[in-house]
Amino acid sequence: MQFCWDRYEAQGMGGNPDQRCPFCMGGVRCDLCSNGPCRADVAKDKRGVCGITGDGMAMRMMLLRNILGASTYHYHTEQTINTLRATAKGETPFRIIEKDKLKVFAGRLGITTSGTIKKTTLALCDFVEADFNRKADEPSHIVEALAPEERKRIWKKMDLFPGGIYGEMLRATSSCLTNVDGYYVSLALKALRLSIAMAYQSQIVNEYCQDIIFGLPRPHKMRVDLGVLDPDYVNALPNGHEPFLGFAMVQLARKPEWQNKARSVGAKGVRVIANIETGQEMIQRWEMDDAFYGFTGNWIMQEAVFGSGCVDLFACDMNCSMPIDPAYARKYKIRLVPVSDLVAFEVITERINYEPEKAEEQAAAVQADFGNKLSEPREENSTVSAEIAEKRDAAAAEIAEETDTIVAEANKNTLGEHLEPSRATDNTEKSSELSELLQIEEEPELGKPQWEVEIFLHLIYPKLWKLCPALTNYPKLQILR
Ligand code: SF4
Repeated sequence: MQFCWDRYEAQGMGGNPDQRCPFCMGGVRCDLCSNGPCRADVAKDKRGVCGITGDGMAMRMMLLRNILGASTYHYHTEQTINTLRATAKGETPFRIIEKDKLKVFAGRLGITTSGTIKKTTLALCDFVEADFNRKADEPSHIVEALAPEERKRIWKKMDLFPGGIYGEMLRATSSCLTNVDGYYVSLALKALRLSIAMAYQSQIVNEYCQDIIFGLPRPHKMRVDLGVLDPDYVNALPNGHEPFLGFAMVQLARKPEWQNKARSVGAKGVRVIANIETGQEMIQRWEMDDAFYGFTGNWIMQEAVFGSGCVDLFACDMNCSMPIDPAYARKYKIRLVPVSDLVAFEVITERINYEPEKAEEQAAAVQADFGNKLSEPREENSTVSAEIAEKRDAAAAEIAEETDTIVAEANKNTLGEHLEPSRATDNTEKSSELSELLQIEEEPELGKPQWEVEIFLHLIYPKLWKLCPALTNYPKLQILR
């Protein structure tokens, strides 16, 4: 398998992974119409065929990227409001937990809070949805209610005070068509105005309303990193940005019958392990326990998470599931399920599009298939025998123990000091021992690593990380990190 680091290096020019096309690096290229692709150079007044400057090209592309971000953030917010509305009606497995926050937020928006919690919640949902749908020239009531007075004065003076987020996205997107707005200052002002709409209507509304349903973020302990993955358990990983089905999965996993389901196929139990922003939304609000076990990390760790061989289910809500994931799903027998209407993968046909009213049954359907757990080797076409794997684990554990000592010693050193040469040599020797326990899967090819090492399972990841510099000294070994 290739990691993102391999693919990053492959994109480099002239053998330098960081060297890319200078026009693309400068943002001065455009392929929006059939007269292009064009390249621009501001210093030489070299322009696109249509006459747009490099500044115009760069800012137009920046605004388009702003729209992409605003749109996906707001998609999340829409789903949150749908979930809040359904929760107020008692149609989801969730509850209105933060009633005080609901009243404070509704009150700040000018909504009457003297009625029932259900009535206040529904009024809040109606209020924000009406605001999202205001046209660009109809000033946002949410921004009016929440923004500081001095800011509002400046925004109005500069024509930056936004309308509804949908109207602002329409205005900004239409401006980016070729031969519409080619002036970088105007494009930059549109980006600023869109950002104000997005920050207040999408992000603030989203976080307040998620707090109302799932609780306020509070500091608490949480297990993190690859060490949270244990192959003896069914590991169900919600991934993306939207925590709805992830929370529903935790609620199920906390029930004895779900732990028994996992035990019935030979596992020790089922654990929900959070990832990426979905994980952050979850771990900041809910305490860990045996069912909600921990958090892996951000998207750059995703392939390492898969490479651990521990993942049984990867439930992909909006954002941060990589197009490469089906290759890992095939190799490591992972059930890869899009749980958002937005997410799709090549070759993956199964999907469960999140609907708040069906959250519990959807979480159950996502989590239900424990069939492949422990029933067959996780890695297709593996040539590593059980005996070799056992020896490998023993060697890896020995290295981890030794690394612990080395790291402790290194920590005593002042910043910038290196490990003693003798210690580094010891590590290289250990690396050599480890590599001798592994097999060559194919004849080495030029430019390709001769070895693939997958030693995540029984190592504590920070220790492995510290060990990498020593291992990379070994000439035939490439560490996939
Ligand atoms: S919009 Fe202008 S700069 Fe972009 S491809 Fe067309 S002609 Fe070239």
